[in-house]
Amino acid sequence: MKIDLKIQPLSTWIKPANENQPLLIAGPCSAETEEQLVATAQLLAKTGKLSALRAGIWKPRTRPGEFEGIGSIGLEWLNTAKQETGLPTAVEVATAKHVEEALKAGVDILWVGARSTANPFTVQEIADALKGVDVPVMVKNPVNPDLTLWIGALERINNAGITKLAAIHRGFSSYEKSAFRNEPMWDMAINLKTHAPDLPIINDPSHITGNRDLIPYIAQKALDMDMQGLMIESHIDPSVAWTDAKQQVTPKALAELVDNLTLRKPEVKSAEIKDALADLRSQIDKIDDLVIQKLAERMQIVEKIGNYKKDNGITILQVNRWDEILKKGVQYGKALKLDNDFTEKLLELIHSESIRKQTEIMNSGTTVKENLTHA
Ligand code: PEP
Ligand code: MN
Repeated sequence: MKIDLKIQPLSTWIKPANENQPLLIAGPCSAETEEQLVATAQLLAKTGKLSALRAGIWKPRTRPGEFEGIGSIGLEWLNTAKQETGLPTAVEVATAKHVEEALKAGVDILWVGARSTANPFTVQEIADALKGVDVPVMVKNPVNPDLTLWIGALERINNAGITKLAAIHRGFSSYEKSAFRNEPMWDMAINLKTHAPDLPIINDPSHITGNRDLIPYIAQKALDMDMQGLMIESHIDPSVAWTDAKQQVTPKALAELVDNLTLRKPEVKSAEIKDALADLRSQIDKIDDLVIQKLAERMQIVEKIGNYKKDNGITILQVNRWDEILKKGVQYGKALKLDNDFTEKLLELIHSESIRKQTEIMNSGTTVKENLTHA
């Protein structure tokens, strides 16, 4: 799937607060009171690590009767926080009315939440309200692991003329219970990057983990995967937070967390490191060439086997033989310190291509022998 997004570089609308740390957007899950929001923002600004202040004003809650956000009054508090700290503000919008109110109040960055991304009607309503406006928009992945929905939402917002665009990876809902509130499913974010290489992706370790103790691991992994920034929930006193209490961290803990992250640069500066890396890469390239060459040789033999089986009326698949290859291969791989699962998947892929090739041969026109018979 090719997607064609017209995007301005991230640096045209947001940058890391300093070059030694990742781009960081932080703030409470929800704006609760003016005091809570402004005091949190002040402590966050003091860390010198923030590029923008986030706060939920309208909160999408799974069940009714829970705190559904403070509403429009929170926009005024956000403005006070902005005046006090100089930080740009970011808010989630889920309807055209939210967009209008947030823009009117001077919110600097909008984001589309995970539940909204899952609904194309909602995304289109937001996109329509954004027509003709120059405001940065971040699109969270949908709650369900559906890459197309995520891409579709980004396209709808981009088609409305929004070019200051980023994706937020906040993990996916899954039936299996795990240590995470939302499974990271890193492949989804990697796939998005493959389809839209210029699209910045910001990681949200708070909503992935649902648990403040796990945030550093996910944040580091996101940076190691070359994601462009982090959105982390921070509250002046997480123990009394009205929403997402378990995953919020104090501004002080946030500063420590960010200080402990290692920023690895994709562009290596030192010539020495560059040479060592170039050398290792060339070794890998040579091995990859050999792997491909050997696979091609293997397929040529498979073709010969296919012709032989066809001529002699033998079935393509001999289950016992396949079991034997698989078992032997996995054991060999294990002895060479390859992961069992990896070897098994690799052999299965090679095997299914062999079967496909042999089927092609079986169904292909006629061999010389048949020609003679039919003649
Ligand atoms: C949030 O950022 O507070 C939020 C509601 O997140 P999500 O849309 O990822 O659930
Ligand atoms: Mn939250």
